[in-house]
Amino acid sequence: MAYSTRCWQRFGDAGTTSDKGEPHVAPKTLDVMPEWSSSPAATLAELRKFADDEALMPWQRGHVADVLHIPQPQAAGLMTAVAERGLVLPYLGGSAQLRLAYLVGEERPGGSSILPPPSIQSLTTRDCYARRDGWLCHLCGRKTRDGYDTPREWSSLDHLVPRSEGGSDYPSNIKTAHISCNKARRVRPVAEFAGSPLTRIAEGRWP
Ligand SMILES: [Zn+2]
Repeated sequence: MAYSTRCWQRFGDAGTTSDKGEPHVAPKTLDVMPEWSSSPAATLAELRKFADDEALMPWQRGHVADVLHIPQPQAAGLMTAVAERGLVLPYLGGSAQLRLAYLVGEERPGGSSILPPPSIQSLTTRDCYARRDGWLCHLCGRKTRDGYDTPREWSSLDHLVPRSEGGSDYPSNIKTAHISCNKARRVRPVAEFAGSPLTRIAEGRWP
């Protein structure tokens, strides 16, 4: 927790001294907004440089303004623009409720993030991963559908490495799956289950 608090201060507006006790020096900001700022997609490309191995980054106005070297009001506008287009998922992470964001389209190896991941209980998170995965079930390869008449085909979040085996809730360990495929897989290895007759049984498509 101590580390999180220090992160928050460093990323936030509150701190006036650095970790070494040196006076805080405001980074130089540009007088003219850079060309990439006119497009949300190009803004996202800039933000990618500052996301970690799980495509997570602090989503605090002061921090974003610092890393992009732009004034805070403009940073706030760009943050809203990319979030409204679904390019990032802003969320409150961990017990400290840190303001963080997941860069939705990013496929990264994962494994070394110190930032808490998005809550997998949230429907917004589920839909975000579904969009990332093209609304396809990673176990049977078919589309997920959220209609009232298709309960077997609802999308859910499946852990590649099951939680019971130490799998995390980080984006690199989460894939979209039909709720029926997810339940039928349980903790079987993905390679054993994906595309096997079991997925067709799970979906009521067998024989
Ligand atoms: Zn499926």
